[in-house]
Amino acid sequence: MSHHTILITGGSAGIGAACAVMAAERGHDIILTYNSDRAGAEATAAAVKAAGQRAQIIRCDVGQPEQIDRMFSEIDPACPIHLVNNAGVVGPTASIADLTAERLTNIFAVNVVGAMLVAKGAVAHMRRCGQSGHIVNVSSAAARLGSGNQYVDYAATKGAIDTFTLGLADELAPEGIRVNAVRPGLIETEIHAKGGEPDRLARLSHMVPMRRSGSAQEVADAILWLLSDHSSYVTRALIDVTGGR
Ligand code: NAP
Repeated sequence: MSHHTILITGGSAGIGAACAVMAAERGHDIILTYNSDRAGAEATAAAVKAAGQRAQIIRCDVGQPEQIDRMFSEIDPACPIHLVNNAGVVGPTASIADLTAERLTNIFAVNVVGAMLVAKGAVAHMRRCGQSGHIVNVSSAAARLGSGNQYVDYAATKGAIDTFTLGLADELAPEGIRVNAVRPGLIETEIHAKGGEPDRLARLSHMVPMRRSGSAQEVADAILWLLSDHSSYVTRALIDVTGGR
């Protein structure tokens, strides 16, 4: 298992924070970014350090391209990295009549343009430092469910991430950079409350074949497998972590 540093966007909460702690427990140093939740980022960094690894915290709103450039300028150019392209947002429940240009522009700026520019920066960093790493994009089961009457905009951003994963994997395979996506289902994080639906998991869990929601750790486990040498022949895969949904 290579011991690259793992760059995680959105490491202040949820799935990103779980990845950071689990990766540290497996011997990786962590670079974690946050947008607004400094305390969350510091709590994640403290857990990384408690596991005996180094943690660098960088503030970066991935919806602001210049902040992505600045983030990469703060990373040691000689440091080999893997990327967990995780930062993402969901809007309040909506149907088509509720969608505005502003809402669509904002969610695509973060979930799609941001994720694509972060991946671009990570590839440039890998080429500069002369060591390939791997990339996991955090998509969603929404990409294939469509999320009608909930948030078709969010689902469409994740559909874009799936397609981006396929093309980028083809582009980078000759360089030894594997690119995969994980598509979580109903996962126990604060994202549902932030989107105005704190009871979303309780309401929908019965629709999951396994009859329960998943934990952030269960998603992190799949992400870290994709970054590890245990998945050395896996690229261009979209892996569902959904309890069968
Ligand atoms: P979460 O607990 O709300 O965490 C989201 C993370 O993304 C936070 O660290 C947040 O940072 C960061 N973030 C949000 N907007 C950002 C921005 N503009 N720039 C930089 N960072 C930003 O959500 P989560 O459930 O862990 O979600 C992580 C990923 O999993 C997302 O891509 C989400 O779409 C995907 N996902 C989640 C589920 C689920 O059921 N939970 C299901 C499918 C897919 P700050 O708080 O510091 O702003």
